[in-house]
Amino acid sequence: AKETGRARCVVYSRVTFNAPDHDVSMEAAMFEAVRNGEFFLHYQPIVHSGTREIVGFEALMRWMHPELGLVAPSQFIQMAESNGLINLLGAWVLKAACVQLKRLQEVAGRELYVSVNVSPRQFRNDQFLALMDDALKLSGMEGRQLLLEITEGILMSDPVHAEALLLQIAARGVRIAIDDFGTGYSSLAYLKRFPINTLKIDRAFIKDLPGSVKDAAICNVVLSLAQHLNLATVAEGVENEEQLQFLVRQGCTLVQGYHTGRPMMFADAMDVLRAGAAE
Ligand code: C2E
Ligand code: CA
Ligand code: CA
Ligand code: CA
Repeated sequence: AKETGRARCVVYSRVTFNAPDHDVSMEAAMFEAVRNGEFFLHYQPIVHSGTREIVGFEALMRWMHPELGLVAPSQFIQMAESNGLINLLGAWVLKAACVQLKRLQEVAGRELYVSVNVSPRQFRNDQFLALMDDALKLSGMEGRQLLLEITEGILMSDPVHAEALLLQIAARGVRIAIDDFGTGYSSLAYLKRFPINTLKIDRAFIKDLPGSVKDAAICNVVLSLAQHLNLATVAEGVENEEQLQFLVRQGCTLVQGYHTGRPMMFADAMDVLRAGAAE
């Protein structure tokens, strides 16, 4: 199981669970996993497209099952969302990510940020703000160093609640990104109503660049929209140099993908930053 700890050697378990939403044995395994501390975080660099300097990391949850090996989030996040375990896991992710960001920053010798995924159920939970405050306090980091990634669906399902909560989050300097931008029920009106800072362009629009005329047009329009609204943009799933160069030309300042850094263990992220700081 040592290999799975390395950044370059991440192998997802081939085992798939039957009907993940109703698999009782998997549900039991998840509760067991929480007790045994089988969950941990991978960190994927978010880099400046021109200089390739690391500006932050997205925290991505992982589950190391003793028999199944590494279980991908696609196999357990949805279930955790339906059985409510996501609240427990999400609270842990928030704390761990903030505390570890502080340490990453220390070796980097400059300010970094951490991007944390927030699920719909977590966002609806009335404890969310208190948990976020706890995480900030515990880590001692500034609010501006935390970016919360939410999806369009969260905003659309209960806009009144979302607006109130987002304003309180923004009051702490914590920033908000729309994850998978363009893939959900987008409504441009929401970009006006809510205090959003960042758009993350989904990999679906990146993967066929620069060849696909349609994807190029979509990226172009999203980037121009973001520029005019003064929003930062992160292109997700950048896998090669051609995609990166296209995005640089189109003015996308931040990128995240296998080409500039795979999700990796915390210790490996520390090493990458240490090497960068020594240059
Ligand atoms: P996401 O938030 O859209 O995260 C990006 C996904 O793309 C990650 O998958 C990442 O490993 C993958 N990725 C990054 N670069 C590339 C690339 O160049 N090519 C390809 N093909 N993929 C790339 P991952 O880690 O399997 O996570 C899947 C989803 O699970 C995430 O999608 C997110 O929605 C969810 N997730 C992960 N961690 C958490 C968490 O802590 N809380 C919640 N609520 N959801 C999480
Ligand atoms: Ca995300
Ligand atoms: Ca995403
Ligand atoms: Ca995505």
